[in-house]
Amino acid sequence: VFAGVVRAPEDPILGVTVAYNKDPNPNKLNLGVGAYRTEEGKPLVLNVVRRAEQMLVNDPSRVKEYLPIIGLADFNKLSAKLIFGADSPAIKENRVTTVQCLSGTGSLRVGGEFLARHYHERTIYVPSPTWGNHLKVFAIAGLSVKTYRYYNPETRGLDFQGLLEDLSAAPSGAIILLHACAHNPTGVDPTVEQWEQIRQLMRSKALLPFFDSAYQGFASGSLDTDAQSVRMFVSDGGECLAAQSYAKNMGLYGERVGALSIVCKTSDIASRVESQLKLVIRPMYSNPPIHGASIVAAILKDSQLYNEWTQELKAMADRIISMRQQLFDALQARGTPGDWSHIIKQIGMFTFTGLNAKQVAFMTQEYHIYMTSDGRISMAGLSSQTVPLLADAIHAAVST
Ligand code: PMP
Repeated sequence: VFAGVVRAPEDPILGVTVAYNKDPNPNKLNLGVGAYRTEEGKPLVLNVVRRAEQMLVNDPSRVKEYLPIIGLADFNKLSAKLIFGADSPAIKENRVTTVQCLSGTGSLRVGGEFLARHYHERTIYVPSPTWGNHLKVFAIAGLSVKTYRYYNPETRGLDFQGLLEDLSAAPSGAIILLHACAHNPTGVDPTVEQWEQIRQLMRSKALLPFFDSAYQGFASGSLDTDAQSVRMFVSDGGECLAAQSYAKNMGLYGERVGALSIVCKTSDIASRVESQLKLVIRPMYSNPPIHGASIVAAILKDSQLYNEWTQELKAMADRIISMRQQLFDALQARGTPGDWSHIIKQIGMFTFTGLNAKQVAFMTQEYHIYMTSDGRISMAGLSSQTVPLLADAIHAAVST
């Protein structure tokens, strides 16, 4: 009965790892995957996560019962505090509903479906380019997906004029997906002044902000700095949505821990919104998993663990920043043609190198370096040892 099923193409991002795994070359390098690696190229479990897990294991009162549909209450409260800030008026006034979801992706999916069911404008604008899954997640949630200009390939920076024009031309009430920080794949973020202009424009047109916060703390090393964009929109008293992921900043990739928060005008509206979120979640997966959320809650509620976490987070962010400098220096040393200053200007996990699909294919074939065909490389996958190989490959790719 399934003989007619057509083979689907590999996911453009996860497919890079599939190709990498098939390559027998011992010096192969995977810069496609958006996951942190140590200087030794190994995945990292944070010490603070191990400590929290140990505490959970040793707690005899801990059971494996189902969580409520919206997840672990402590986790939700602490997640809202983390992104909106401890002093957020929206939290104090009880106008925020937060539900635990399956990492960032699941939070976007639940938020998207809620909007498709209950919001009057079903078009969402995402930046061009954006994380590829945005297009699919929101389309399947029932929204119509359009793009706004974001990146200027010539300057390898923000196309701020294009962004303002496209948001101005969007229909009043449209949903606007914003990367809270460390825009993926470009590594290009608006400045605080530009965020303020975006905020004013969006509020004047009643555009609804939907923040995707997958890298809080990863961009600058500071959790507060990386949440600044979101907090600007919350402090004006208006509505917004925020999807949080703990994949990167706590290294909990496979635990699938995230949260969706919806900031409303009143506490009564927030509670009605929450009741509808339950109706979105229940037929999708009933309730979220308990383990990862318990780890996060344990870390966020204990000041000592929290401090330890911020230090480990800063160390990850600093290593990535140092990789940027090393790669830039290595290209300078080789006299590689072109301006590579964007490598040190962009922030977050990725560099949008500007290499084209042909150059990427060349680097994979000749140097066994794997990355997405848009030229995005994960800085977290690099080490002092592998920088020279990458610099050689880029040099050869742009010189031929
Ligand atoms: N949004 C962005 C911009 C991302 O880069 C990612 C991860 N690559 C996600 C959301 C979702 O990640 P996860 O579902 O693993 O939390």
